[in-house]
Amino acid sequence: MARYTGPSCKLCRRAQKKLFLKGSRCVTEKCAVLRKNYPPGLKGQESKGKVSDYSLQLREKQNARAIYGILEGQFRLYFATAARQKGITGDNLFVLLERRLDNVIFRAGWAESRAQSRQFVRHNHVLINGRRVNIPSCLVNEGDVISVKEKSRELLVGDKVKNPINKTPIWLKLNSDHAAAQVLRIPKREDIDTEINENLIVALYSK
Ligand code: SF4
Repeated sequence: MARYTGPSCKLCRRAQKKLFLKGSRCVTEKCAVLRKNYPPGLKGQESKGKVSDYSLQLREKQNARAIYGILEGQFRLYFATAARQKGITGDNLFVLLERRLDNVIFRAGWAESRAQSRQFVRHNHVLINGRRVNIPSCLVNEGDVISVKEKSRELLVGDKVKNPINKTPIWLKLNSDHAAAQVLRIPKREDIDTEINENLIVALYSK
């Protein structure tokens, strides 16, 4: 699947908040949101009038896409799947996004950002239940063991957790040498620490 290849910091500036797309840089003073606290573009510094409901909904959806590194077409597919599932569509949507393999690598602390974890997966560094998987969008299931290939451990695991902004979530259990993680259960919406309001996304796609 294709991915966004433009400047990540621009997405945060457009959102006018930190989306934490670049790992350790995001917690330093180099963060573009701190240095240029206005939207990108020639009219970025002009004050905007009243923001419409549609604009709020669209912005929330764009932020969710940016955080998980997903293009519009694939995001719509996730939404369609979430809408078909039992339960609350907004919750289902975030549970699906959270089960992506690249997200799990990020949550396990093996990568600084989802973009980096995606690259690790594409470069064959990761195994699911002992089998190589190089599809970042692969969804993990309860009981799956995600591990780092023996030869890649120095690169990914090292001696510390790389992800500076997340703690290991409650649904994921890292083993003692941090080279493997087991999915204890499918995550629930309340386990997912995101400021995104999924109701706005549901309202947008339900028009
Ligand atoms: Fe966003 Fe991180 Fe860039 Fe700051 S450094 S603007 S949080 S991607």
